[in-house]
Amino acid sequence: MVKKPLFVVSCSGGKDSTAMLLLMIERGMPIDMVLVADTGLEFPEMYRHWDRLARHLYRERGLKLTILRHPKGFEWLMFDQPKEKLSALERREREGVPPYGNGWPSSQVRWCTGQLKIHQINKALSRLKKDHEIFQFIGIASDEDHRCETNEHLRYPLVRWDITETQALQICYDRGFDWDGLYEIYHRCSCWCCPLQQIGELRNLRRHHPELWAKLMELDQRALNQFGHTPLGRFKDGWTVAALEERFAAEDRELCLFSDMKPKCRRRRRPHKH
Ligand code: SF4
Repeated sequence: MVKKPLFVVSCSGGKDSTAMLLLMIERGMPIDMVLVADTGLEFPEMYRHWDRLARHLYRERGLKLTILRHPKGFEWLMFDQPKEKLSALERREREGVPPYGNGWPSSQVRWCTGQLKIHQINKALSRLKKDHEIFQFIGIASDEDHRCETNEHLRYPLVRWDITETQALQICYDRGFDWDGLYEIYHRCSCWCCPLQQIGELRNLRRHHPELWAKLMELDQRALNQFGHTPLGRFKDGWTVAALEERFAAEDRELCLFSDMKPKCRRRRRPHKH
């Protein structure tokens, strides 16, 4: 049986996949479905961006965004998922770590990307594959083309159109998608709690999103209470979030002393436009 082709766009809502989707719409390319994997820990600005993108997609193509979520979410995976493999249970017992929860993700163990994004998307695609030949469109910019895989069912329009990351952002701005300024603050706009982000991004999180920073402090304290100073309880090499808080607060004090300003001079997030 010849399967019907289905054109599926994977869209994180970041600048590259957004630019890809906007251009695919503009260029009249076939789109049957747009998948978004929600980790539950996106910036509020990103959720608003998804809403705007969804309205645009519906207006232009009559399609809805298909949002995929893990049934139990990030915090359950981090603190509560029971471990089942005997080797893992034995290791945890030796190390005095409870037999549940994955702890903070790290560059070696990025369980979050696997379980909250890749697995959710693959699960949706496998269901569709029963009746369709899937062509998946992925938003990788041309200056990141080393990340592309050779597979006739994967398409990378930005690479084919030679659109770089900088151009992708401009394409979105030119069409009125600006994430309420998120890309003016952060280089990458995925999960706000990501321990893999640079110290500079975390400094910006504390300054521009103090409410999320406070939640991050709570999450880290919970991780330390549950996993102690083991790799699972380690937010970042050499840094707990509380230690970063002390460091950033000391930097602020120094800056304020230097410029003869009071601590309340700390820059606040710009007011929301909409
Ligand atoms: S952004 Fe960080 S925390 Fe979020 S899924 Fe990716 S690696 Fe995990």
